[in-house]
Amino acid sequence: MRKLELHWQILIGMLLGILFGFLMTQVTWGKDFVGDWIQPFGTIFVKLLKLIAIPLILASLIKGISDLKDISKFRNIGVRTILIYITTTVVAITIGLVLVNIMQPGEGISEETITKLTDTYASDSGVTSKMEEASRQKGAGPLKFLEDMVPDNALAAMTDNSLMLQVIFFAIFLGISMLLIGEKDAEPLKKFFDSLNDVVLKMVDLIMLTAPYAVFALLAGVVVSSSDPELLLALLKYAGVVVLGLALMILFYSLIVSSFTRYNPLTFLSKMSPAQLLAFSTSSSAATLPVTMERVEEHIGVDKEVSSFVLPVGATINMDGTSLYQGVAAVFIAQALAFDLTLANQLTIVLTALLASIGSAAVPGAGMVMLVIVLESIGFPQDKLAIGLALIFAVDRPLDMCRTVVNVTGDATVAMMVAKSVGKLGKPKVKNWDDHYEEVK
Ligand code: ASP
Repeated sequence: MRKLELHWQILIGMLLGILFGFLMTQVTWGKDFVGDWIQPFGTIFVKLLKLIAIPLILASLIKGISDLKDISKFRNIGVRTILIYITTTVVAITIGLVLVNIMQPGEGISEETITKLTDTYASDSGVTSKMEEASRQKGAGPLKFLEDMVPDNALAAMTDNSLMLQVIFFAIFLGISMLLIGEKDAEPLKKFFDSLNDVVLKMVDLIMLTAPYAVFALLAGVVVSSSDPELLLALLKYAGVVVLGLALMILFYSLIVSSFTRYNPLTFLSKMSPAQLLAFSTSSSAATLPVTMERVEEHIGVDKEVSSFVLPVGATINMDGTSLYQGVAAVFIAQALAFDLTLANQLTIVLTALLASIGSAAVPGAGMVMLVIVLESIGFPQDKLAIGLALIFAVDRPLDMCRTVVNVTGDATVAMMVAKSVGKLGKPKVKNWDDHYEEVK
C-alpha cells in the first residue's frame, strides 16, 4: 500500500488533535489531562526542532558561503534578499491597512463587548507581560539592533536560540574568512561543516517521523486552553479581516512564484505544506526553520548557497504575516476605542510595523509585543494600551498560528526568487531518513 504523504498525515493528526481537545473541554478533568499527559509530547517535539536550529544554521551557512567560491556572489544574494524582504513586508502591511479601512471591523463592536473583554483580559498576565516586554525593547537606541547582531562570545551566542542573528553573523564571518584562506587550507573545515550539515538534515527527517503525533498533542493543547467561545465570536469580524489579508498574501506569493520563477504555485504550496502545517501548529517560525530549510532545499531545489542565508535571516527578520496583523490590529483597536487616525498615522503604522516585524522574535505571541510599539508610535494613549491589547487577546493565538504560516511561506517564496535571480534554482533532490538504513541496521 502506498504510504500516505507526510502533509496528509500531519493534517489528520491536527484534525484529530482539535477533535480530541474539543472532547476534553466537555469533561471537568479534560484540561488537566491534556496538560499532564498529551501536551508534553508536543513540547518535546518543539524542543527537538529548536535543538537542531543552531547547528543547522551554522553548518549550512558556512557550507553555503564556502561553496560560493566568490564573495561578490554573496553580496549579491544579501542585497537582493534584504530588498525583497522589505518590499514583501510593505505589501503585506498595505494589504492589511486597506482591508481594515474598508471593512471597519472595529466600528460595530459594542460597548458591552469592550467592557467584557477589558474585564477579562486587561490585567491578565498574558497582556501585562507583553506590555512589560515592549517597554524593555522600547528603551533601546536606533542602532541597538546592529549592536545586538554582533556577538562578543561565539559560544555564548550558540547557547541561546534567541540570539540567532548573532549565530548568523558569526557563520557569515567564518564562511567569508574560509574563502579568503584559499580552497586548500579551508578544506578540512569545509568537510567538517558539510558533513555536520548532512547529519543535521537527517535529524530533521527523523524528527519529522513523529510530526503527525506531535501536532495532535500541540493542537489538543491549544483547544483546551482557548478562550470563551462567546468572546471569540465577538471578534469574528476582526479575525476575519486578518485571515482574509493573510490569504491574500498567500495568493500574492503564488503569483510571485509563478511569474518570477515559472514554478507551478500549487506544487510550491504542496511541497511547502509540511512546513506550513508545522508553523500553524507551533506558532513559531524559529521552531519551523529546520523543516522550512529541508523543504526548500531538498523538495523545491533551491541551492544551499541561497537558502542557507535567506531562510534563517528571513525567520528572524521577515514576518509579513506579523506585520499585516499589526497593521490591522492597530487600526481595529483605534476604531473600537474611537481614536481617530489620520493618513499620517497610517503611514507611521507602515513604517513602524515594518521595523516591528524585523524586531519581533520568531516565537509565539511576539507580534503582539511589537504591536504595543506600533500603537505608541501613533500617539495612542498610554492608559488605554492595556484595554487595546485586551480587545484582541482572545483571538491572538489562532491568529498567531495563521500569521506564522504566512511568515514561513514568505521566507520560502523569497528564497525561490533570489535563487532564480542568481541561477541557483535547480532540481529537487529528496533524501529520505532511511536511505542508508539497510547498511547500518
Ligand atoms: N509567532 C510568529 C512567528 O514565529 C511571530 C508573531 O507574529 O507573533 O513567526
